[in-house]
Amino acid sequence: MTRPASITDDLLRRLVSRVPSTSGGTWKLTEVYTGDVLVEVPQSTPADVTAAAARAREAQQQWAGTPLAERLAVFERAHELIIRNQHVVADLIQAESGKARRMAFEEACDPVMVISHYLKRAPKVLARKRHGGPVPVLSHSTEVHIPRGVVGVIAPWNFPFATGLSDAVPALMAGNAVLLKPDNKTALSPLYGIGLLEEAGLPPGLFQVVCGEGPDVGPTLIDNVDYVMFTGSTATGRFIGERAGRNLIDCCLELGGKNPMIVLDDVTGPVLDELLAGIMFAVFANTGQVCMHIERIYVAERLYDEFRDRFVAAAKALRMGATYDFGPEIGGLVSPDHLARVQSHVEDAVTKGATLLCGGEARPDIGPTFFEPTVLEGVTKEMLHGSVETFGPVVALHPYRTVDEAVALANDTDYGLNASVWSADIQRATEIAELIESGNVNINDGLATAYASKGSPSGGLKNSGVGARHGDQGLLKYTDVKNIAVLKKQVMAPQKGQTYEAYVKQMQLSLRWMRKLRVR
Ligand code: NAD
Repeated sequence: MTRPASITDDLLRRLVSRVPSTSGGTWKLTEVYTGDVLVEVPQSTPADVTAAAARAREAQQQWAGTPLAERLAVFERAHELIIRNQHVVADLIQAESGKARRMAFEEACDPVMVISHYLKRAPKVLARKRHGGPVPVLSHSTEVHIPRGVVGVIAPWNFPFATGLSDAVPALMAGNAVLLKPDNKTALSPLYGIGLLEEAGLPPGLFQVVCGEGPDVGPTLIDNVDYVMFTGSTATGRFIGERAGRNLIDCCLELGGKNPMIVLDDVTGPVLDELLAGIMFAVFANTGQVCMHIERIYVAERLYDEFRDRFVAAAKALRMGATYDFGPEIGGLVSPDHLARVQSHVEDAVTKGATLLCGGEARPDIGPTFFEPTVLEGVTKEMLHGSVETFGPVVALHPYRTVDEAVALANDTDYGLNASVWSADIQRATEIAELIESGNVNINDGLATAYASKGSPSGGLKNSGVGARHGDQGLLKYTDVKNIAVLKKQVMAPQKGQTYEAYVKQMQLSLRWMRKLRVR
């Protein structure tokens, strides 16, 4: 295996030179397919984090005063630049994460979609809005959205380019600076993306990056920013939320899932033929390392055997490969450590009585982090895979008798990130979607439709998160709101000679009229 020609030593040196490290400490970033060290990533100290936040804060002053149209013009150019360099982006994503090229390319499209969406929406969403005041005609208030200042973005390894850039884009458009902490394993693609933003005209210094282990740099980062956008595990999310709360700053937490799929009893024969590829993608995309991927499938009892046989056959047929082309459908896991975790969940399930229908083995013959697409039956909540996120190419199949039972099983989890319902009858599937306790529900798709619908906010319920990305909310969360209120005449008190009782009566009458006339 040779790394792609685009990933030269010179490029790697340039990328990591952006990361401050006064200690000189480094972390060995490897090419996942081979385990070879690609580059040593500088490790930032708490003092480096504080200094990076200060540089970001300084650059933000001027950026906040730059007219919105000029700020957006930077992203108009960046959109084109990212598309033009998407193959380099995909090379870097693949090298550092081990994912298949198909998925790396899809990931490279995400910031582009986010930019497009907010280029359209930002002028409207960030515009000043005038509202009526307490006294019609004589008063009004204006809602003004101002940037928060420095936004901290803490990103995971599973979609490093998307979570590193896409969440930063609306923050920057709103006039903030960004201080990003990517995962050490996957720092290269976001670093490359920041270079593209700067080539498009983003002022130097506005988008800072620090690297290090989470507990080493995370607390200092949170203490030096004005808002935290976090994507990662529920356990880390709790820590981030607590720290942000102590600093009285707001945060958005996009966390883990244990996502269910319900297959209704009409998904059989030709309907199953048509939908099966989408169902496979819902489970095995990104080798199962997607927060929204499906780990539990509930299938109507009367078609369970047909579904199981077709699903298992399709899982066995998925093409794995450690190559930088579009051939393989499935790539590797992110690291040998993560492979060990996924394997331990499968072994735990089998030891406790689950049936292995296919997969279950590591594939060192393909690469050091490859694990077979794995399908289990008879998984219970006492098993790790039955209750916590496995985050790998592993899924459990379950038959159900009634739709009520399927919905109850789908909801029987502390998570609520994503769910999926499949049927030829969209109306029926939509009615069921309403009953599922989840921030996202996809109908006849696993995850991509909800995630790529940038106009709708997307976040987690229950232990899957706080707040949302995308939609107007995904931009407004990066702003503080200022309420500028004007009263043109002093009328909110008894007028000369008027008793307070008469004033109260007049006020009650006005309140009634204002409701009737829908004033305000
Ligand atoms: P993680 O929580 O271990 O790490 C995420 C990021 O937080 C990394 O950059 C890490 O270095 C940092 N971090 C760790 N400890 C920290 C601390 N104490 N202070 C500050 N930062 C700290 O998660 P992970 O294993 O990298 O990612 C996988 C998890 O992310 C899965 O649970 C997955 O479901 C979730 N995820 C959620 C979404 C979503 O949108 N809901 C998207 C992608 C991934």
